[in-house]
Amino acid sequence: MREKSHDHKRCILIFKRLSEYMDGELDEITYEEMRIHIKECVKCKVCLETLKRTVDLCRNMKMQRVPQKLSKRLKLMGYDPSNP
Ligand SMILES: [Zn+2]
Repeated sequence: MREKSHDHKRCILIFKRLSEYMDGELDEITYEEMRIHIKECVKCKVCLETLKRTVDLCRNMKMQRVPQKLSKRLKLMGYDPSNP
């Protein structure tokens, strides 16, 4: 898996919309763009998988929001939406 012309700003956009992506709330074009980016971006891939797992857990526990622990973890992974 190589990261060609990696655009970190794009990762942040993707990160912000990951939950919409997972819930299928995006239009086809945006979805496809994200899908392609995630396929080629290890960081976003890991991020999506982590989020997926957490969301599954949350759904099981009937929680609606992503816990703070996760956003902290995502920040540690280099995703800080407030500081692009
Ligand atoms: Zn990315």
